[in-house]
Amino acid sequence: MNIHEYQAKALFEKYGVAVPKGMAARSPSEFDSALTALDHGPFVVKSQIHAGGRGKGTFTDGFKGGVKFAKSKAEAIEFANKMYGNTLVTAQTGPAGRKVQTIYFTKAADIAKEYYLAILLDRATSLPVIVASTEGGVEIEKVAHETPEKIFKILVDPAVGLQGYQARQLAFQLGLSGDHFKQAVKLITNLYRMAWETDASMVEVNPLITTTDGQVLALDAKVSFDDNALFRHPDIVALRDLNEEDPKEIEASKFSLSYIALDGNIACLVNGAGLAMSTMDIIKHFGGNPANFLDVGGGATKDQVQAAFRIILTDPNVKGIMVNIFGGIMDCNTIANGVVAATRELGLTIPLVVRLEGNNVAAGKQTLAESGLAIESADSMADAAQKIVRLVA
Ligand code: GDP
Ligand code: MG
Repeated sequence: MNIHEYQAKALFEKYGVAVPKGMAARSPSEFDSALTALDHGPFVVKSQIHAGGRGKGTFTDGFKGGVKFAKSKAEAIEFANKMYGNTLVTAQTGPAGRKVQTIYFTKAADIAKEYYLAILLDRATSLPVIVASTEGGVEIEKVAHETPEKIFKILVDPAVGLQGYQARQLAFQLGLSGDHFKQAVKLITNLYRMAWETDASMVEVNPLITTTDGQVLALDAKVSFDDNALFRHPDIVALRDLNEEDPKEIEASKFSLSYIALDGNIACLVNGAGLAMSTMDIIKHFGGNPANFLDVGGGATKDQVQAAFRIILTDPNVKGIMVNIFGGIMDCNTIANGVVAATRELGLTIPLVVRLEGNNVAAGKQTLAESGLAIESADSMADAAQKIVRLVA
């Protein structure tokens, strides 16, 4: 689960991680009072969407910059009005962009230097890793590629937590000294505690800055949490912004379906994540493009299958459906009944190819054949993929 910058910074403050003073506004009627609370300018006006690269982003109406420097309150309100309700496209949003529904105003900081700081999980060692760089504010992937020697990493043993010497080593590698050094050590230590205690899967501060008046601040904040740990963080779940999520994925989660929207035109409905991955591969192999990843799970019910069809069909790009079921625990006839019911209920008009194999497959195939519906049956995965690719062509 992701949260907005303003929410992440509120968490930072709670853990003693220094950030510029800011106020969020969820509607234009709040702009004035938010800015008044920040006293005087200059301000930074920041679009709140769950994607980075906002500063370099462009709105669909041509307005440039999802993060803007404003000298005065009047200018800040002018920028906020241009951003609010407008759709921001950045390198991370995809071409459709994201609608801005919250504006965050901050007191502008006078930047001396920009750094990079992140806390992630290192898959190779299964340990939390703190990544820092002297090259902040720019794309870290580019730094990693072109000047890897400017990136520093520290692995943390979760049994003992982040050690003082490790935080000091990072601050030293960033080239900080004196009071900056002390502030950075405190910030890194507190940020790690926050990441650990909230079960964050990623905390990224890009940029971390030193200011001309001697402060060390987290100027930007991107935080994601491990969904499997959310049950123990009701306060974090309360920060979820459904505006930022694909409505199809929200609907799917209500029915315990694992659904991820993709940009092809062949929808797949599969039981098991591994089979879903190979189904997408085989569709690609025969020249098609999957519209989604959809795993109905090992013991799907008729209701779940119907819900899955409804969700698939809300995607206007879908031109055909491939059902690929291996009945291990699942009874193929349950799926067949779900498919028939969904096809009738939704008055399906696009091609549907169904491949069933395993437990009670004969009954399942019979249910499909006797339905009188235009459902194409397939004998193997390859057969099903070739058929659906041909039918949507
Ligand atoms: P992002 O583009 O989504 O990563 O948003 P950021 O919050 O990182 O802002 C983009 C850039 O705007 C930063 O890298 C800074 O260079 C600049 N910026 C943001 N806030 C301030 C500020 O308070 N003062 C100054 N001088 N620049 C800022
Ligand atoms: Mg940033």
